[in-house]
Amino acid sequence: MLNKLNNATTGNLIIVSAPSAAGKTTLVTEVLRRDPRLRPSISYTSRPPRGGEVDGRDYHFVSCERFRELIDAGELLEWALVHGNYYGTGRQPIVDLCAAGFDVVLTIDVQGEEQVRRFFPEAVSVFILPPSFGTLIERITCRGEIDPGDLKVRMSNATVEVAMYSRFDYLIINDRLDEAVDDLAAIIHSSRCRRERRSVVAEQILQTFADASRSYSKLTT
Ligand code: 5GP
Repeated sequence: MLNKLNNATTGNLIIVSAPSAAGKTTLVTEVLRRDPRLRPSISYTSRPPRGGEVDGRDYHFVSCERFRELIDAGELLEWALVHGNYYGTGRQPIVDLCAAGFDVVLTIDVQGEEQVRRFFPEAVSVFILPPSFGTLIERITCRGEIDPGDLKVRMSNATVEVAMYSRFDYLIINDRLDEAVDDLAAIIHSSRCRRERRSVVAEQILQTFADASRSYSKLTT
């Protein structure tokens, strides 16, 4: 199944990872708004919705039991326990979107990135770093809804996560949002120009050369 995605006529996967509150949701939302060839992957999670989050738009919010059923049925491309809750990517929507030619953005944690890359090494991975630890704390406390226990877990996980940046293809420092959005859009654009992703169209162009040279040699003999 995944090899089928590995074809220049289908879309690609763009994995975006970052510690909590590094600004990845805002960044990804803006890039999705700009680029009609991109689609988001809507993850499943067992975490309850935060204020303003909508089921089916931000996440598919499910119970722990339902999440385990999805794992057992093999319906998830990857899944992980993050900050004490389950999160996972549905397999079939990704296959369908890529087959329709869309590039799909997966906003997932570092454990999920590792699983997706194992099956799909062509995926492009991007890590988002905040400019400093202090900025991260400021951004996470601005959300206002996190209890102190959750904040502690997220901060200690963030320290582990940022150390993983070196295994990603690209790194964005999210200091100024507009620059970070430009960076992510440029990464996605350049990934579409990779030679291996253009091999089908390249072969079609080369065929026009072969056809022309056959006609030309007929004319000159
Ligand atoms: P939050 O609860 O703040 O929305 O997300 C917490 C963490 O879970 C973030 O690092 C986010 O990227 C990660 N996450 C969201 N969806 C998925 C998913 O489908 N798979 C994995 N592995 N992580 C996810």
